[in-house]
Amino acid sequence: MSDKPSLKVLLCAPRGFCAGVVRAINTVEHALRQFGAPVYVRHEIVHNRYVVESLKTKGAIFVKELDEVPDGGQPVVFSAHGVPKDVPAEADRRSLLAIDATCPLVKKVHLEAELHHRRNLKIILVGHKGHPEVVGTLGQLPKGSIILVQTPEDVENLTGVDESNLAYVTQTTLSIDDMSAVVAALQARYPQIVGPHRQDICYATTNRQEAVKAIAAKADAFVAVGSPNSSNSQRLKEVAERNGCPSSQLVLRAEDLDWSKLQNIRTLGVTAGASAPEVLVEEILNAFAEKYELDIETVTTATEDVSFPLPRQLREEVV
Ligand code: SF4
Repeated sequence: MSDKPSLKVLLCAPRGFCAGVVRAINTVEHALRQFGAPVYVRHEIVHNRYVVESLKTKGAIFVKELDEVPDGGQPVVFSAHGVPKDVPAEADRRSLLAIDATCPLVKKVHLEAELHHRRNLKIILVGHKGHPEVVGTLGQLPKGSIILVQTPEDVENLTGVDESNLAYVTQTTLSIDDMSAVVAALQARYPQIVGPHRQDICYATTNRQEAVKAIAAKADAFVAVGSPNSSNSQRLKEVAERNGCPSSQLVLRAEDLDWSKLQNIRTLGVTAGASAPEVLVEEILNAFAEKYELDIETVTTATEDVSFPLPRQLREEVV
């Protein structure tokens, strides 16, 4: 009989990789097979250092901007977060072989913004300043066409906006509750504002947050597996805290766990952001298994069967 204390683990399902991340990683791997190394990737293909490092070992070279990509025929892949329009335009000008791994659900937001613009509507984007997805969405239209807001206070502070000509779109990976508060502020101030037919927050973000909500109040502590720069992973940590869990942390690897926040716990919630591979969830569970006798229960709040085809240039390779 083990002398370790027992720990009930409530494991969120769904968790981890979403269809957009799977497609982006597959895009780089297929490009490596089809064109050979190196394959250049502009920015982190998805926000996870483990994923990035493993693709590097296979021959991917990560760059910040296109000027780091040499001429000569090797492809350059654009990340799942999407890119401003001037990036593919520059690739085109230099005759680079560009493969766009932008998630189709981010593309949907780009297309909505374009449509509003063509209808002469001013666009408000609800999102986090500086996040690559937001940079990409802002860059779909001429400078000044889109106003970025992050909070209800930002909405209160807007000036000179013609409310009869207004539409909004949102980042795909926001907290549903934060987004709802900002949209409520927009609708209260601009009752005629046009919104998306279906919310822009994607199915994966929604499902992962709902799974955390279902468990948060039952857990003494929560671990969200994911990168600090991953928006949807950050949100999972926050959702756990806001829904009744006294202690929540976001960790990339087991070595990042702050055990001082995990004293005297009897129930632990575990989830993973959309860019975190399952192998890292296993690593975290193994770290707990060294200290506790685990009783793991998977709590399933939704099932997912979404998948996206590879970018056009790579489809011939799939047999
Ligand atoms: S989190 Fe959502 S929008 Fe982002 S890559 Fe995944 S499916 Fe696409």
